[in-house]
Amino acid sequence: MDRRPGETPAPRRGRLPLERYIEGVRSGDRVILARAITLIESDREDDVEVAARLLDALLPDTGKARRVGITGVPGAGKSTFTDALGMHLIQDRGEKVAVLSVDPASPVSGGSILGDKTRMERLCLEDNAFIRPSSSRGQLGGVAPRTRETMLLCEAAGYSNILIETVGVGQSETAVRSMSDFFLLMLIPGAGDELQGTKRGIIEMVDAIAINKADGENKPRAERARVEYASALHLFPAPASGWAPRVVTCSAVTGEGVREIWSMILEHREHFEASGQLAELRSRQALRWMRELVILGLEGELRRDRAVALKLPELEENVRLGRATPFAASREVLSLFRKEK
Ligand code: GDP
Repeated sequence: MDRRPGETPAPRRGRLPLERYIEGVRSGDRVILARAITLIESDREDDVEVAARLLDALLPDTGKARRVGITGVPGAGKSTFTDALGMHLIQDRGEKVAVLSVDPASPVSGGSILGDKTRMERLCLEDNAFIRPSSSRGQLGGVAPRTRETMLLCEAAGYSNILIETVGVGQSETAVRSMSDFFLLMLIPGAGDELQGTKRGIIEMVDAIAINKADGENKPRAERARVEYASALHLFPAPASGWAPRVVTCSAVTGEGVREIWSMILEHREHFEASGQLAELRSRQALRWMRELVILGLEGELRRDRAVALKLPELEENVRLGRATPFAASREVLSLFRKEK
């Protein structure tokens, strides 16, 4: 086999008995973990049934990991940073780390933004790292159709740290924020706010900003950027959580500042745990996810509905030609759908 140790093995065809998935995941078997993820990513009705039972069975083994979301424009250094942080966790702290990504297809090319370039070169050689690139979206709707479930499986498999990476595009940041405890925005000095997508909405979601590439001649610029962002953050109202977002510098290449960022994440964790806010945050997130799954499920049912499928082309044509309003046509679609029930 030409796969490297950290890479997810290609799933084999066929489904295992439920018990095999449960035992395999619990014992940290990476091959079974990978296959379990493939199972929960499946859209086939019988797979969905088994996947639900698997997740139910593993529920007691989940929830203990530190869940860290990392966002930033392509080129900010997210994979290099994840590699460095993951190595710190494995080598210095003797822990395990799973790296997931939420990769929204590019709105322009339709292709993946995070891409297939060699990422996380050191981490993918580690037995204590599990790297799962984002799955192609297939039939599933939504931005991160099964990333949350993938995270739960990794937790059940003993990965005490989950790093979820995304690019700052569309809904992907909100999706990652809504499954992480700590949300880190990675910026590079001198790239301009607009380019880096530092819209107010994103700033309000973050727990920290890391100005990356603070090395060599970039160092003074990174420090200036840090001061600027720190004073800009002061203008925001103090968060009710009692955690004021921080701005730090780091270099993913030299490793400077990476350890400190992890200490900050641990400090945040302590603060949120001691105040009961972590449990609160997680239950809010779970509720939100349930609601999203209901919407996604409805969308899927709507798409599979025969009466709707038969009538839809005509209705769409009418709207396209201005013969019907979108409002009226949408009402007709919904009434056809309801009739089927
Ligand atoms: P991503 O698209 O955000 O995942 O960014 P990458 O991790 O792929 O990094 C983009 C480029 O920036 C690569 O050529 C990296 O080698 C480089 N890079 C990443 N981090 C640093 C850093 O801390 N310092 C310097 N000088 N270059 C970096």
